[in-house]
Amino acid sequence: MNLKDNIRVIPDFPQPGIRFKDITTLLKNGPAYQAMINEFVDIYKDKEIDLIIGPEARGFVIAAPLAYALGVGFIPVRKPKKLPHETIEVTYDLEYGKDSLVMHKDAILPGQKVLIADDLLATGGTIAATLELAKQLEAEIVGAAFLIELTYLNGRKKLGDMDITTLVQY
Ligand code: 5GP
Repeated sequence: MNLKDNIRVIPDFPQPGIRFKDITTLLKNGPAYQAMINEFVDIYKDKEIDLIIGPEARGFVIAAPLAYALGVGFIPVRKPKKLPHETIEVTYDLEYGKDSLVMHKDAILPGQKVLIADDLLATGGTIAATLELAKQLEAEIVGAAFLIELTYLNGRKKLGDMDITTLVQY
């Protein structure tokens, strides 16, 4: 299954000059969606992962089915004011302004082995913030998994020596 053929590129979205990688075309193709998750399963099945963390919203559509397939737990990372219990929060810089991500304070026990998953690695800001949340809870980070990597933005640099898997590159 060629995953890249199932991703649609939308010019000038959400602003002029950006070529947005639209994964909804892949998600609506059942065999392609399944093939993507199965590729990740092959890579991570023997890594003794306890939990998979995914930032909302597109991270959920990768992290949750992968957690299910591996028989491990899923932890949502959300925008502020969405999670009902006590939370920890990390604020990070965007091109214009700032944003925050939040996780339940009791989501991870110290030493649990976690994988971070999202749809796309661009500058790495989202995943660096997610990583910071996991580190605050003393998780052992197995690595990060992305469907897509925009290699020209060098997001890997922001993530240090973390083990990173990407299935499709632009
Ligand atoms: P970063 O924080 O690495 O700069 O940006 C990655 C985040 O932005 C991901 O959570 C991803 O969902 C979103 N994102 C940025 N550009 C795109 C894109 O072209 N397509 C998709 N599907 N998501 C994008």
